Amino acid sequence: MSEQLQSPADPSGAGVVIVGAGLAGVQTAVGLRELGYEGAVTLLGDEPHRPYDRPPLSKAVLLGKASPESVVLDVDYDALDVSLRTGVSATALRPWAREIDTEQGPLPYDALVVATGARPVVLPGTEDAAGVHVLRTVDDAERLGPVLAEQRDVVVVGAGWIGAEFATSALDAGCAVTVVEAADRPLAGTVPAEAAAPMADWYRAAGAELLTGARVARVEDGAVVLADGRRLPAGAVVVGIGARPDTGWLAGSGIALEPDGSVTADASLRTSLPGVFAVGDCASFPSARYGARLLVHHWDNALQGPRTVAANILGEEPAAYDPVPYFWSEQFGRFVQYAGHHADADTLVRRGDPDAPAWSMCWLREGVLVALLAVGRPRDLAQGRRLIEAGAVLDPVRTADPAVPLKAAVSSG
Ligand code: FAD
Repeated sequence: MSEQLQSPADPSGAGVVIVGAGLAGVQTAVGLRELGYEGAVTLLGDEPHRPYDRPPLSKAVLLGKASPESVVLDVDYDALDVSLRTGVSATALRPWAREIDTEQGPLPYDALVVATGARPVVLPGTEDAAGVHVLRTVDDAERLGPVLAEQRDVVVVGAGWIGAEFATSALDAGCAVTVVEAADRPLAGTVPAEAAAPMADWYRAAGAELLTGARVARVEDGAVVLADGRRLPAGAVVVGIGARPDTGWLAGSGIALEPDGSVTADASLRTSLPGVFAVGDCASFPSARYGARLLVHHWDNALQGPRTVAANILGEEPAAYDPVPYFWSEQFGRFVQYAGHHADADTLVRRGDPDAPAWSMCWLREGVLVALLAVGRPRDLAQGRRLIEAGAVLDPVRTADPAVPLKAAVSSG
């Protein structure tokens, strides 16, 4: 598909340019040096800040329990001889010239890594509306801090992961919280109804009002108006309705993109263009493990994928990137973890009562464990993740018994 960088020991001088200074971009730079790459490495990020970690933004940072400085990634770019350029956007890619355009002029590359992450989906018509927020960046979290501190009435649009975490923090801060969800349950499309039903109860028990099957018609000054005419008082509105790969700047480059906007990467995270790789929230890749192309918006993917990219740039023959996706969330006093990838056709096996404080669910495909959702059962998650990686076949009866450790549910037959 694409040629390798000619020789890591004999770079043309342009070296590796990494666009996007989030976790995936930083890990690519670190991985290149760890694997012995000696050429130039330039890490370009459009945010004005040193690269930082996003998960604490919707948790400790929002509540003022962690400072924005504390989430900065602990990497010594000087010691690594990585040229970190913050506050600079890449605006175009010209593969035929092996260069990108930036706001500060063109930049040549021997190898290019696209690690531009994802951008939150906004409510149409509210792009510049005062009091309407998204939560993706440290600047977003800093803008939302005062909203929480002033204990305003908050309307959260979307009962997904970010919506749930924001609602949790807003309730902790003493805000009145209403969550508006267009689907009939939280996390629709991510977890099945069996798991979502108890999750809906978490909102209510924590004191949030959860309105499902509710669509936002418009946002007015101080209110959210629903399609059915209901008017919800809103000192602030937080929109958490998903994120899309941030790949608009690649328009005209000829790079292959999927309909969801993700860069089409192969099993080694190479793109359709020579010497161009893609990793993290902006890239999708084929998973032989799951027989599907995956677009994974999880921290662990941004941590693991760069190793494959770095090895590839160095001309090593990396193993196919085919991880067991892993995600965690902290919401309503619970620690929720998910590993793997399931389809509707997979067999769901419950471990414990979903109304209890701790339970988990497994998905089996022809007996093989393919995914697991754990609430307050980190041991299930740890064992399950290893079993998924190993392609273990589980005994469904033993799997359904929460007193049996998952690893002891492996089928002997
Ligand atoms: P990003 O972190 O988005 O980094 C991409 C960077 O590229 C950004 O800084 C962007 O501004 C920059 N960029 C974009 N376009 C350009 C351009 N043209 N030129 C230059 N720079 C550009 N995952 C979990 O597993 N568990 C969690 O609990 C969890 N919590 C989260 C909480 C929040 C609030 C958010 C937003 C995400 C959370 N995630 C969580 C997801 C996880 O943080 C992401 O999957 C991860 O950050 C993806 O890393 P990335 O480097 O691919 O992309």
